[in-house]
Amino acid sequence: MTSTQAARHKVVVIGSGFGGLFGTKALRRADVDVTVIAKTTHHLFQPLLYQVATGILSEGEIAPPTREVLSGQDNARVILGEVIGIDLTAKTVTSRVLGRETVTSYDSLLVAAGASQSYFGNDHFAEFAPGMKSIDDALELRGRIFGAFEMAELGATRGDDVDHLLTFVVVGAGPTGVEMAGQIAELAHHTLRKDFRAINTRHARVVLVDAAPQVLPPFGAKLGEKAQRELEKLGVEVMLGGMVTEVDERGLEVKFKDGRVERINSVAKIWAAGVQANPLGKTLSEQTGAPLDRAGRIAVNPDLTLPGHPEVFVVGDMIALDNLPGVAQVAIQGAKYAAKEITNRLEGKAPQQPFKYFDKGSMAIISRFRAVAMVGKLRLTGIVAWLMWLGVHLVYLTGFKNQVSALMRWAITFISNTRSERTTTEQQIFARAALARLRRGAADLVSDPGIYDATRAMMEETRRQELEAAAEREAELTDSGVRGVPAER
Ligand SMILES: Cc1cc2nc3c(=O)[nH]c(=O)nc-3n(C[C@H](O)[C@H](O)[C@H](O)COP(=O)(O)OP(=O)(O)OC[C@H]3O[C@@H](n4cnc5c(N)ncnc54)[C@H](O)[C@@H]3O)c2cc1C
Repeated sequence: MTSTQAARHKVVVIGSGFGGLFGTKALRRADVDVTVIAKTTHHLFQPLLYQVATGILSEGEIAPPTREVLSGQDNARVILGEVIGIDLTAKTVTSRVLGRETVTSYDSLLVAAGASQSYFGNDHFAEFAPGMKSIDDALELRGRIFGAFEMAELGATRGDDVDHLLTFVVVGAGPTGVEMAGQIAELAHHTLRKDFRAINTRHARVVLVDAAPQVLPPFGAKLGEKAQRELEKLGVEVMLGGMVTEVDERGLEVKFKDGRVERINSVAKIWAAGVQANPLGKTLSEQTGAPLDRAGRIAVNPDLTLPGHPEVFVVGDMIALDNLPGVAQVAIQGAKYAAKEITNRLEGKAPQQPFKYFDKGSMAIISRFRAVAMVGKLRLTGIVAWLMWLGVHLVYLTGFKNQVSALMRWAITFISNTRSERTTTEQQIFARAALARLRRGAADLVSDPGIYDATRAMMEETRRQELEAAAEREAELTDSGVRGVPAER
């Protein structure tokens, strides 16, 4: 176990997502030492995960290394580790990576650990229908989607029924589900159509299921209907008012309000329904009494702090405040607000007004040249919304290198209707399931902390004894005249 200490005001930031990164950057001129603790080495631009899953972008283009992004910020350092404990009394954060624990103390704490996929109490669905929250998810889905076409080609060559391999089901008709369904339809019906011989990819079935009565509920009825029509034009089957009640390796079951149950045989299923706030919210709730909502989000004070702990700020997807949505701008603006509050306090300035979110609008892409956008009272569709989507995502993508590279990829993809990132490996598809079978995951594959040193010390001792014994034997042999140059007579 190691302890980290610094002389200046210490700010610990949990998470390197939108809240964590923007909060840290906002502290770049402050007289503080910032330690970012995150369980991944990268900052992830989640809104473009679906493009990694469908072969448009590479993972590096949407997930630059956090330490590279912050390399020019002298007052910030980055440490890898999953936070497993926060002690609000001792003001420490405990993180762990591969069984090694680190305790970091803080004066101010910014918690921006985001949310994960929610399977509404059916966590076993995850094995067969991965969510869309991480690079691992996107690469696994890429493997499953392109892999399904490969297996279908193989099966069709043998004369097998391959309908279940050519049926793709996306659960959840929010922006992510709509984007995924649109992209898979585009892949099947356009991009891949010349690549196979035994199957006709244009016969693939793409189904979008949601329990809600409309597509894209937060966008209102009009844009929802427009998005549904566009999806249907692309060949997506939109199934609304249907709750997924069972998911297994070969398909899923959808139950409708009238009691009807439909089974869809499908190997490649994608879960894009529901989010659950990070479990660190529960830890904080237990220590402060701040309540959690049904999605596990913690109620924060109007200045984003926790009751009785003005030094602890929580931002982004983890908070329940004024019905704020789980979007990037809530995390970014909240983190900047918290950073300013920390700086103000150090400079002896008055506190800010309560946090107020400025809604810059929402948008969802449906396919090439088709999107819907909502900015204030303005409702946009078609190519105008699509261009707007492109511009906004380019501006917010972290790093100039990634912006240029993404722009080039988009030009290639949208003009030529091809995909540059179709590489998949068995590891992408199966390694996570294999790791999940180990009791402690990847930590079971490396020696425990200290064991290596103990083993090395033991080996060094044994080797020393062996060498001493050999030297003693050699000396005896030399003394007895068996070894060495015979003495001159
Ligand atoms: C597929 C998808 C598409 C989206 N599209 C849009 C969109 O188009 N527009 C939009 O505005 N929003 C979109 N969102 C939502 C947006 O990405 C989130 O609202 C935003 O990322 C929230 O920021 P955050 O900082 O709270 O959490 P995140 O950005 O999720 O960051 C959480 C960070 O915490 C780290 N972490 C988690 N647990 C621990 C732990 N125990 N220890 C250490 N580190 C930890 C994670 O590794 C990560 O670095 C999308 C989300 C998804 C999943």
